[in-house]
Amino acid sequence: MRTQQQVPLAPLTTFKVGGPARYFVEARSEEDVYAAVAEARSRGWPLFVLGGGSNLVISDAGWPGLVLKIALAGIGEQRDGPRMLLDAAAGEDWDSFVAYAVARDCAGIECLSGIPGTVGGAPVQNVGAYGQEVSDTILSVRVLDTASDKICELQNADSGFAYRTSIFNSRARGRYIVLRVMFALVPGGAPRIEYGDLKHHFGGRSNPPTLAETRDAVRAIRLSKAMLIVPGDDDCRSAGSFFKNPVLTCEKFEQLRARAGPIPNFPTKDGLVKIAAAWLVEHAGFPKGLARGPVGISRKHALAIVNRGGATAADIVALKNEIQQRVLDTFGIQLQPEPVFVGFDQQP
Ligand SMILES: Cc1cc2nc3c(=O)[nH]c(=O)nc-3n(C[C@H](O)[C@H](O)[C@H](O)COP(=O)(O)OP(=O)(O)OC[C@H]3O[C@@H](n4cnc5c(N)ncnc54)[C@H](O)[C@@H]3O)c2cc1C
Repeated sequence: MRTQQQVPLAPLTTFKVGGPARYFVEARSEEDVYAAVAEARSRGWPLFVLGGGSNLVISDAGWPGLVLKIALAGIGEQRDGPRMLLDAAAGEDWDSFVAYAVARDCAGIECLSGIPGTVGGAPVQNVGAYGQEVSDTILSVRVLDTASDKICELQNADSGFAYRTSIFNSRARGRYIVLRVMFALVPGGAPRIEYGDLKHHFGGRSNPPTLAETRDAVRAIRLSKAMLIVPGDDDCRSAGSFFKNPVLTCEKFEQLRARAGPIPNFPTKDGLVKIAAAWLVEHAGFPKGLARGPVGISRKHALAIVNRGGATAADIVALKNEIQQRVLDTFGIQLQPEPVFVGFDQQP
């Protein structure tokens, strides 16, 4: 494992913005991860753990300490009664792992096809799409606990999963480095066709779709929204959805609906109402395709801030601030960003 210096980070992200890492290492084994953490600690370098760079806004100044790129590889499988346990190293590409599960006819993550990033990044914000979240099938997460320097297995119930949340991006942010993730999937299980776009895609069919057809459908739907990374397409030079969908009490939702009109909404498992952030952004005056010099809004998705080419992190933050302020003024809702801001003096 070699420590490099002044490594540009922008090419390692989907947004393609941001400055360099002062120090940079790529870990291919758990021993590498240990060694990198020990080096950062002994030299007093702040540590940042990088997966696939698909949920990041890296500051124009870059990262002043060590960036640890997780490149651990390998997938294991074992049958456990009616379940198939698939266990993937944190550096595996997420979408390739979904393809692997679908090829083995294992149900549970097919709707999460096409999400960029790594297996290790997926539990951090509990990635979700089209009616599934990774927390529905994660059994346990193998981590290096940097507080104790021990490797441990966190069970699903210990991981604090909720909408776009886990302990990894909230109360224990920066403490755990994800090394492997174990999923419990259902061999021969039916795909989950609950989300409107998927139902519509398969509408009129008499026989239920297979897992492979569901995966293809999800990828096709994502492609139509520039939510699938296609090299050269500036509508997907982004961090995906830039804002979380706000979750409101029923009372607050009714007040908003009375004022603002028919906002797309979905009930949550715990009796709250999730409303479409994309609708708020569009109706606050930021249409699809909006251009602000080198930044803008995707032509295919109102929730994606995009780098049209040559954007800086400062350009992205300025547009983010403008959208947040206008949505607050118009609807009284404070939008929360979804990506992680890295290397900023203050959280933008
Ligand atoms: C086009 C596009 C579409 C997207 N669609 C979706 C979607 O449908 N649903 C959704 O939920 N997200 C979506 N995203 C966001 C993103 O793909 C996910 O959040 C993804 O899981 C991030 O993984 P990553 O490996 O790229 O993490 P990074 O972006 O590299 O890192 C994100 C955070 O996770 C931490 N992290 C990464 N790996 C580890 C590790 N091994 N151990 C500890 N911490 C780690 C980082 O420190 C950072 O805090 C989309 C992004 C893009 C660009």
